[in-house]
Amino acid sequence: MTRQEKIRRRKAARRRKIIALIMGLCIIVLLAVAVFLVIKNRSQDAEKKNVQETQSENNDNTHLEDASNDSAEDTANQAETAEPEPAMLELTETQKYTGDLLLVNDQYPYHFEENADSLQLVNIKEAQTVSYAVNKEDMQLALRIMAPLDQMIAACNSALNVTTTGISSAYRSIEYQQSVYDQYVADYGQEYADAYVATPGYSEHHTGLAMDLGIYYEDGSEGSFSESENAVWMEENAYHYGFVRRYKESKVAITGINNEAWHFRYVGIPHATYMNNNDLCLEEYLDLLKTTTTQETPLQIDCETGSYQVFYTNAVSIPQPEGTYEISGNNSDGYIITVSVG
Ligand SMILES: [Zn+2]
Repeated sequence: MTRQEKIRRRKAARRRKIIALIMGLCIIVLLAVAVFLVIKNRSQDAEKKNVQETQSENNDNTHLEDASNDSAEDTANQAETAEPEPAMLELTETQKYTGDLLLVNDQYPYHFEENADSLQLVNIKEAQTVSYAVNKEDMQLALRIMAPLDQMIAACNSALNVTTTGISSAYRSIEYQQSVYDQYVADYGQEYADAYVATPGYSEHHTGLAMDLGIYYEDGSEGSFSESENAVWMEENAYHYGFVRRYKESKVAITGINNEAWHFRYVGIPHATYMNNNDLCLEEYLDLLKTTTTQETPLQIDCETGSYQVFYTNAVSIPQPEGTYEISGNNSDGYIITVSVG
């Protein structure tokens, strides 16, 4: 072996060593990277697992809620199995003859039996919250109209600076109406009685929602309501309290009752407002509702207590209106639904 050869071999051996060293280093680096990646993957997996577990716990909770909702619905459904649709409003025969919009006239008698439970008559003198004269101590009206009546009389007296507005007639039983009618026949004759006094059973005074206003002075004497400034005020302002002047000169042909400045009837503020603003008597208003409205196309009424949608129906089952609503029969063939919409 020459010297040159020895040097070459040594160089070659050194090169192999260097290559082996580099390869060794590479393997170490690769191993390190591999180990790092494995560890990293493991920790990511662990995180994912945690997240999944949390999510699945949440899902479990959701399922629980769903399950409880389902069971609540099931219970509700079970409770309503007798009804065809759970979201329907069922209207009863009694409701056709009760409520604030009853039409009682010479064609449609008042249904005493159907109203026996809901009428709730109270003695006016005992129930009144402001002082005003009442013609007879035992006079009664429906409890639900006492507050608006008190407010209306107080507002009238205050506006005119008087204390004269009072009640001359209120609720009448069928026997009392008979006695009134008989007395008018005896005093003024049949024709006059028929013009001013309703046939017993057909008087709006049976409803407990109507009253005749009078003028009462402090010395106990009575005045003429028709000729009083109180009558003018009432005609202009009664609707603010839910009352309408029921029998006007211009509507005698429709109502069948002569002009009466003193007779007022409670129907509720939205209806009184519409009737007042459009000069409709109760017969005309109910006819308008019956012929032009449905649940899909109600009459929109905006008044001082809010906005209302009003419609007539003769169906005994209708989709439940949204929000708060009131039901009144028309006292003949159907129902008026008044839905508060804001
Ligand atoms: Zn009257």
